Formats: sequence, structure tokens, C-alpha cells
Amino acid sequence: MAWFSKPKYTVLASSKKEQQSRNLWTKCDGCGETIYNKEWEENLRVCPKCGHHQRISASDRILLLMDEGTFREEDAYLRTTDPLAFSDSKGPYREKITVTIAKTGLRESVIAGSGRIEGIPVEIAAMDFEFLGGSLGSVAGEKICRTIDRAIRHKRAVIITSCSGGARMHEGIVSLMQMAKTSAWLGKLKAAGLPFISILTHPTTGGVTASYASIGDIIVAEPGALIGFAGARVIEQTIRQKLPEGFQTAEFLVERGFVDLIVPRKEMKSRIAKLLRYLGCKA
Ligand SMILES: [Zn+2]
Repeated sequence: MAWFSKPKYTVLASSKKEQQSRNLWTKCDGCGETIYNKEWEENLRVCPKCGHHQRISASDRILLLMDEGTFREEDAYLRTTDPLAFSDSKGPYREKITVTIAKTGLRESVIAGSGRIEGIPVEIAAMDFEFLGGSLGSVAGEKICRTIDRAIRHKRAVIITSCSGGARMHEGIVSLMQMAKTSAWLGKLKAAGLPFISILTHPTTGGVTASYASIGDIIVAEPGALIGFAGARVIEQTIRQKLPEGFQTAEFLVERGFVDLIVPRKEMKSRIAKLLRYLGCKA
């Protein structure tokens, strides 16, 4: 699918690292096979050999889900105020943000906006792992809350695609607060009788799993996605027990009811559209 590698809108730029890697071959993280990038693109970055779902950017995620030409980005220019004036051995947080923006071409870890899925108007927020591990900071939290506000205003469903290492340490408690804030905002969405579909992609961990990502009316995951709060090794050391095979994978969690369904990337758009129709959303 040629559209996957050629965005039809120019507001969003895929990360530079991604653009570079598009020129050559990519080694599959699943089976280790080296695959020609054109083949990756045509297969929506799902390994044709083993079915491994390679991570994709927030902008590709939006292209994948939205009807062509319908996406309009909102709140693109929100910037963190660096509430703690944070600095560590690697330097000040402010500098890190500037460097990350230059390096990735992204402005924050969340891209939010409005668009249509098979004609159904929705509000969407997509997380990008390339921006500081897709961490949830004040801007990401605020963008998600504004996405929910717009949905309530226009009576639309909310879709959030998660891909994150968790809360952004550089913003300390202000980052952790976003967990409660986004969850409370989803409470407002529920009170307004509007649905929220949470899409979990590899990896969805930490404070993101422990807040909005886990409280969707419907929780959808991509095959093989790592979904959890603390890392498996930390849990094993804490409880002093060996964890079961496949612990924290989408497949493990769907069997236990934490995830409602696993949807391969190729089917994601049509399945989400179907779910939206089940939930009463109309084109
Ligand atoms: Zn593979």
C-alpha cells in the first residue's frame, strides 16, 4: 500500500530515524530475518515471515486508521513548561526536549486531532514511542484531555492508540498527575454517553497502562504487544516467583479478560469502524 509510506498530508512528519530506515533493509525484531523495506511498507510493517508487528509512528498509525484526507491535527504547538526545572547527568530536560524535537521531527509524544473512520467522525490521540519513549508528560496528558473535550463537544467517540514506556520521569508528580487527570476526563466522556476505544500497541507499559489505556469501553491490542505495568524482571524479583510463559503479552491478557480482542494491523481500521457502528456511532 503506497499510501502507507507517503503521507497525504504534510502537517505530520514521520520521525527522521524512521525515514532513514525506510531506504534500506530492516531486521525483524521477531524472527531476525532481514526484509527489504519495500516489503515491510507493503505489509504495513508486519513481518511477512513471522507476523511480528514492528512498531510504527503516530503519524503512520493515524494514516492507517483515518479516511484519507480527513485528519486535522489539533494542539500541535503545545510545549512542556518544564515544571520542575529538571536536570540530570545528561543535562537539562529543556535541552533534551529541543534535541528530541530536532531528532525526531515530532513535537511531543502524542499527536491528536479529528478525522473520520469509514465516514464516522472521531477524535483520536496517537502516541509515538520515538519521542522520549512515548512518555506521558503534561503535554501528552493535556492533549488527551482536550481530545476528550472535543469529543464531548461534537458528540463523537474517542480513540487512543497507546505506545509508551509510561510516565515521564522528568516531570515528576506533574507527569503522574496526568494518570488521574486523563482517567477523570474519560469519566466525563462516559457521563456524556460517548464511547472510548483503547488500542494497545507494542509496548504499552507503566503509567499509561495504569490509567487511560486500561479503561476503554473496548480494549483492542495488536498481536504480540507487550502490555504491563512494571517489567517482568522487577515483578519476578519482588514476588520471588517465576512468571508464566507469555506473561504481559496481548495473547496472555486476552485470555484473562484484560484485553477484549486482538486485531492484526491489516484489519484494524475495518474492525474499529465495525466496533464504532456497534457502539451507535454514525457516519
Ligand atoms: Zn519476522
